Amino acid sequence: MELARELYGIDVTANELPSERDQNFLLTTANGEKFVLKIANLGASPQVLACQNEVMSRLAQEGIPCPHPLPTLRGQLMCEVPDEDGEPLFVRLVTFLPGTPLALVKPHTPAILRKIGRLFGSMDRVLASLSCPALARELQWDLQSAPSTIRRYKADIRDAGRRSLIDGYLELFDQVADKLAALRRMLIHNDGNDYNVLVGPPAWEREVVGVLDFGDMVVSYAAAEPAVVAAYAMLGKDDPVGAAAEVIAGYHSVFPLREEEVEVLFPLMCMRLCLSVCLEAHQRGLVPGNEYLSVSAQPAWDLLERLKEVPPRLAEYRLRDACGYAPCPQGEAVAKWLAENRHQVGPVVAPELMANAVLFDFAVGGCDAGAPHLWQDVAAFSKALFDKIAARQGKVGLGRYAEARPFYTSALFAGGEPRTVHLGVDLFVPAGQPVLAPLEGTVVSVQDNAGPLNYGPTVILQHEAKGQRPEFYTLYGHLSRKTLTSIKPGRRLKRGDTIGWVGESSENGGWPPHVHLQVIADMLGYRGDFPGVASPSQRAVWLSICPDPSPLLGRSFDLAATEELSTRELLARRSKHFSPVLSVAYRRPLHLVRGYRQFLYDRDGIPYLDAVNNVPHVGHSHPKVVEAACRQMALLNTNTRYLYEELVAYAERLTATLPEPLRICFFVNSGSEANELALRLAEAFTGGRETIVVDGAYHGNTTSLIDISPYKFNGPGGQGAPSYVHVVPTPDPYRGLYRQGQAHVGKNYARHVQQAADELRARGVRPIFICESLMGCAGQIVLPDGFLAEAYRAVREAGGICIADEVQVGFGRVGTHFWGFQTQGVVPDIVTLGKPIGNGFPLGAVITTPEVAAAFHSGMEYFSTFGGNPVACAVGLAVLEVIGEEHLQENALRVGSKLKAGLTELMARHELIGDVRGMGLFLGVELVLDRERLTPATEQAAYVVERMKELGVLLGRDGPAANVLKIKPPLVFSEADAERLVATLDRVLDEDFVAGR
Ligand code: PMP
Repeated sequence: MELARELYGIDVTANELPSERDQNFLLTTANGEKFVLKIANLGASPQVLACQNEVMSRLAQEGIPCPHPLPTLRGQLMCEVPDEDGEPLFVRLVTFLPGTPLALVKPHTPAILRKIGRLFGSMDRVLASLSCPALARELQWDLQSAPSTIRRYKADIRDAGRRSLIDGYLELFDQVADKLAALRRMLIHNDGNDYNVLVGPPAWEREVVGVLDFGDMVVSYAAAEPAVVAAYAMLGKDDPVGAAAEVIAGYHSVFPLREEEVEVLFPLMCMRLCLSVCLEAHQRGLVPGNEYLSVSAQPAWDLLERLKEVPPRLAEYRLRDACGYAPCPQGEAVAKWLAENRHQVGPVVAPELMANAVLFDFAVGGCDAGAPHLWQDVAAFSKALFDKIAARQGKVGLGRYAEARPFYTSALFAGGEPRTVHLGVDLFVPAGQPVLAPLEGTVVSVQDNAGPLNYGPTVILQHEAKGQRPEFYTLYGHLSRKTLTSIKPGRRLKRGDTIGWVGESSENGGWPPHVHLQVIADMLGYRGDFPGVASPSQRAVWLSICPDPSPLLGRSFDLAATEELSTRELLARRSKHFSPVLSVAYRRPLHLVRGYRQFLYDRDGIPYLDAVNNVPHVGHSHPKVVEAACRQMALLNTNTRYLYEELVAYAERLTATLPEPLRICFFVNSGSEANELALRLAEAFTGGRETIVVDGAYHGNTTSLIDISPYKFNGPGGQGAPSYVHVVPTPDPYRGLYRQGQAHVGKNYARHVQQAADELRARGVRPIFICESLMGCAGQIVLPDGFLAEAYRAVREAGGICIADEVQVGFGRVGTHFWGFQTQGVVPDIVTLGKPIGNGFPLGAVITTPEVAAAFHSGMEYFSTFGGNPVACAVGLAVLEVIGEEHLQENALRVGSKLKAGLTELMARHELIGDVRGMGLFLGVELVLDRERLTPATEQAAYVVERMKELGVLLGRDGPAANVLKIKPPLVFSEADAERLVATLDRVLDEDFVAGR
């Protein structure tokens, strides 16, 4: 590039960069320094270019990461060079900013969008102080002239549907046209598109490192700046307005937006998108194949289609909320009027019903919601509610406002954030009760919501502004179909007039009869389909649009659900009483209030697919197990010094699942206690305590179990192996001493057990051998074939005893067999059970042979106060029954195979997956940076677990390098759950931090 040498004295190689107007070249010197040479197109104004230079220099001085111009050898920031025809071209050299365009980055987290907003805010604080008359110019990208530009070029869009989409947005913009004249104007960058924002290298949270392209700077609406940035931030998002709100919140925190500016933000964002697609269509007509212009066209069209579904004022309110303004200003006025005018309103149901009203607690963690299986049984659920009302001599049950409820998270709401926050109140009264107008008003909507949810007719009254009273609406939902014929829109109602009648369950989405009463400050363009619940992330916005209807109940009812404590508060309180050794999962911990089947629910009612907790084996809060515990707890809970049938019945049932001669039971309260007792039995049998353990194993938290758990004694804070503990290599066929594909892998690993046993035998010692049937903490390891058979043979030849730790994997989890050791074709001398055995109820068991039990019978009594108590036995029995009745072992096999196949398929697309292993619903996915050297991808595994949780799927990780994803869900996990897990993992593994982009 001669130009560079001549003008700037640098020797470079040049590569052309894409650009809409100018010619830009990336220059690289021999020692790797980079610059950008900009050659302005013919007709560019030298005054404008000089202004751009000035601004860039000033911004760079102020610490804004942007390119700035460099002088020529003669000290000029810009120089003229004639083109082939002798016309002047203007040449500039600017610094090069390293970074990746936002558009190419995954994911766009709320944090990064906020940072981008802040960067533009910081930049605009500087720009606001600059005056550049040359930049007060006409520019087709200026939003001030956008409507006319769009009208001019719209015809170039071939598709009539798309043209009318644009018309809709022009109309929206016209609605704010009279606000524009009063807006603040200033110099803005005007092109914060997702290719002009650079972010730093992949990290858990990327940094924003630069803003490019000052070629569209113009004096325009101040609000246009964040509107442009937000418009591009919305591209491709599930919740585009949520993404825009993050940008706006960031921007506003540095460079505050005025309320009148926030009002026009959304229409401006839409104008920018329309401008982009119209100019693209026009340009495509002029210069076919101009790649630069078509970059954002399809995503922009998709976004415009999507935004059509968003009520514009809802978007405005969300953006106001992001700026800390009251989301819906009228809402405040309505709430105030209602609070001050309780005395003016009449009853909604017959006043005599309101005495002894019973307040229900339907919060996600509230008891009146009952267990989810009840919701399917409407008759039972209705009866429970109405019984409670009757028991309190009441006639009406009340459901609270602003309460996050678990009901609305069903399959119909799957995909995206569930809507759980109740925006009205409920009055549970028998079907057929008249519903009365609490205030005079006009019927504006009578709509039968007969769709898939079939929640029945809704009537909406408009209460016109009158004196001090602001205009608002009241909504009455779940009325009877008879209402449809008796009331029509347009009808004036006086206070006390009948609106309709409470519907039956059958007209009410299957819910117990009730009327849902909601106050609405802004209809947002909805009719009778106005939402009755909102997503938790939009809680403040919707509660502001729909104030508390309690005052309409006439007396001093207060049905607003009190704000529960925040997760942060709970964490702070916890840390006052608990040591940090009690760790908390996730960077943003989960505050859980409910579990059901394979789902855990947080206090907002967000469901998390539980793919890691094997304790709730038959599903969280299984009704049969809960019922067994409650029933027995109410009857008798005592200890094994008395006779009760539950103990015996459970022992009979449990041992029937085990091979002979495993017939003698000891019931305890945890896996640790089971292993602790197993060691005592083994010591009694062998007369010694020399123990052979497998590297990486974990057997429990007591002193003697830490001593035989390499996972602990060789892990952080560990003290190493005691002298009587002999560690053999982890039989890990993936990264261990002997690997899959080689011959005799199992036997080779067992040889180490043989060696240890032989050495002990030589010393006249009988060894104790303890091994998990599939290894958990060691990294979800499936023992290679023949390992246990050979190891047991060697140990027994040395006069030793073999303990199978089934705490993690028993009870059908492996699918092909009920017990893990059966997959190895062995029968242990002692089996220890825990975790899934009581589905979460503290219970553990040791089962051994009569021979071993006899050796333990030394004269000393064995007694555990709680071990084998009737409640524990009733629970254990119920768990076994459910496993059988619901064919959960078969489910583990079927779903587990499908899941494993799905995960294995991911290996082809994601280099990071080194191994997929496991049996049934006990699976592991090992992440490695390099499939040859097997370098553990520890940080990536941590990121995956964290991101999966954000996307609603709970996994764990383990293994010595914490790089193995643990999958061990409740056995009610379904094929659809497996598909979701695989699809979500696929998405997360494609994100930059994991994919290493
Ligand atoms: N054995 C194994 C294999 C385990 O994984 C665990 C718990 N993770 C235990 C024993 C100890 O069980 P608990 O925590 O119930 O005492």
